[in-house]
Amino acid sequence: MTTPLLQVSGLKKHFASHVAGGATVKAVDDVSFAIDEGQTLGLVGESGCGKSTTGRSVLRLIEPSAGQLRFMGQDLGGMAAGPLRAMRRHMQMVFQDPYASLNPRMTVGEVLEEPLVVHRLHDRATRRRKVAEALDMVGLNPSYAARHPHEFSGGQRQRVGIARAIITRPKLVVADEAVSALDVSIQAQILNLLKQLQQDLGLTYLFVSHDLAVIRHVSDQIGVMYLGRMVELGPRDAIYAAPRHPYTQALLSAIPREHPDAPRQRIILQGSIPNPAAPPGGCHFHPRCPSCMQTCKTVAPAAVEVSPGHTVACHLYR
Ligand code: SF4
Repeated sequence: MTTPLLQVSGLKKHFASHVAGGATVKAVDDVSFAIDEGQTLGLVGESGCGKSTTGRSVLRLIEPSAGQLRFMGQDLGGMAAGPLRAMRRHMQMVFQDPYASLNPRMTVGEVLEEPLVVHRLHDRATRRRKVAEALDMVGLNPSYAARHPHEFSGGQRQRVGIARAIITRPKLVVADEAVSALDVSIQAQILNLLKQLQQDLGLTYLFVSHDLAVIRHVSDQIGVMYLGRMVELGPRDAIYAAPRHPYTQALLSAIPREHPDAPRQRIILQGSIPNPAAPPGGCHFHPRCPSCMQTCKTVAPAAVEVSPGHTVACHLYR
């Protein structure tokens, strides 16, 4: 059995919320998953479910409150600042808003060269060559290195954001709503580019998105989050063919089927996502769940394996 590239166990990120009078918000509450090298885990859920915080905590861009992070066989969670900085060349991020994540005063060449300078990789001439190579890999003309980010379209800027993420040849890329700000036709191009780069460079992705159609397109495994907890985790095909958690069933019922003749009844959830600072007791989903039982209101369900590698946190599967 191979060791996963990334292993996350019991990850927690708790914040003191100013808007909720200092109440603790459990943005990420005991989340566990693993990703094998070259694979993609898609994390999905509504806004505020903790998926982006999970992505950032995994890279320690924000400090987790608890949990273990193992990356490339090392204890990432316990790593001191110096070794962590060195480790960052192996784990990069692609952000939602490419414009906000690029310094508008820098040329694209400078933007791309910066991570190589920070990690003291290569001499100047080689760095320039690497910049041209990275632009070419993301489908941009290497001569664009002299331009500024504002001269590009949204899709082109996201290509620059991706070039910056891959230029240090990382092992892991966390993509946080990487195509959400783009038109649908451009989204498809960027998703195809990410898949091509995964093949060419052996990348491993943690792909965070609220969009189930996007997640289906890119993922090998899917994790469904609700109010900080992982409610279902498993192989993509198993989850799309037969979602087990009532929340996953509702989410999937809202997207078009791949085969239009396949029936699936739309499940309309009652209410909206509750305040994360004061989540409902027991199963957080219980006020909206069509299958809610008495025990659901007081006892948080533990994750149960329903088939190999497919876990569900729901009392229906005890
Ligand atoms: Fe619904 Fe109960 Fe399962 Fe929660 S534990 S999803 S409330 S059936």
